[in-house]
Amino acid sequence: MAQHFQEQLLDEIPEAVAVVGTGDYQKIVEVIERVERGDRRVTQITQEPSYIADETIPRYRTTSEGVAYLRIAEGCDYRCAFCIIPHLRGNQRSRTIESIVTEAQQLAAQGVQEIILISQITTNYGLDLYGEPKLAELIRALGRVDIPWIRMHYAYPTGLTPIVITAIRETPNILPYLDLPLQHSHPDMLRAMNRPWHGRVNDRVIEQIKEAIPEAVMRTTFIVGFPGEMDEHFQHLLQFVKRHEFDHAGVFTFSREEGTPAYNLPHQIPQEVMEHRRDTLMAAQQPISFRKNQNYVGRVVDVLIEQENPDTGELIGRSPNFSPEVDGLVYVQGEAHLGTITRVKITDADVYDLYGQTVPHE
Ligand code: SF4
Repeated sequence: MAQHFQEQLLDEIPEAVAVVGTGDYQKIVEVIERVERGDRRVTQITQEPSYIADETIPRYRTTSEGVAYLRIAEGCDYRCAFCIIPHLRGNQRSRTIESIVTEAQQLAAQGVQEIILISQITTNYGLDLYGEPKLAELIRALGRVDIPWIRMHYAYPTGLTPIVITAIRETPNILPYLDLPLQHSHPDMLRAMNRPWHGRVNDRVIEQIKEAIPEAVMRTTFIVGFPGEMDEHFQHLLQFVKRHEFDHAGVFTFSREEGTPAYNLPHQIPQEVMEHRRDTLMAAQQPISFRKNQNYVGRVVDVLIEQENPDTGELIGRSPNFSPEVDGLVYVQGEAHLGTITRVKITDADVYDLYGQTVPHE
């Protein structure tokens, strides 16, 4: 909002005294000092953000104790028709492998058990800095850091090249969890969305990944109701979801963002049609997720304990197949410390969550 609306925010929110853009976090102390000196309309916004924080910048983590997000790159070089991110965050700039590994080591020293690598397109990591994607090298370097779970978000299927897949398979602390932001399956829709890989999201790509990492947990997201989405496009997506049986799928209705090409496209889809399509797709996914969760019943899995219910003493955590915020939880009976990974025997499962009992370590 700061980057997009800028001074307008100060007009509309009278109690706001400063606006700091997405490329200006490192100037926050200066901004506060200006406010303390009495300035009541501070705008610190670089028009084309190029900054990315590194391991030298102090950070305040808002996740639970055992988990940390680790940003490996910022910004995006693509221009998907629905997306405002490149406008707000600028083009991609990656951190060096050394900088990321140093921060991972700092997080390990703080007791972090799970690191989640984030960027706009993780499979493009390093392209701007090294002239070619360096995700495989980064994975192997992080394999030497004492963090039990490292999870990647926003990998694109065509960026999961044989060398990246081999690196994932050969690095024990990289979780075989693939979050693939597919958005749609129909080539016409992918072209209309200006997805950089349109025409290449197909059954073969998904099958190849499943063959290469059979144990992979696959998560994806879809947009329904993009302008021009006809019933035949939606049916294509529905069949795609049924065919590939993703472990988790998030479905969003198209959101018309001012400042994006899709804002002015003809054939906008009425809200109730979008919602019906979203509900239909979710209804198709639910039995699949339920069945996948049921497969865990009777198995012993590692669970990172993140919360304790003070009234019931019940523990709540996540297994490697669940990412925070977007996937389910594991409700655990028994004894375990917050922020540690413990073994849990799964006794029950529903569409989203698992239930179980701690088991002693052998
Ligand atoms: S949707 Fe993702 S790939 Fe497309 S422009 Fe936005 S951030 Fe980049």
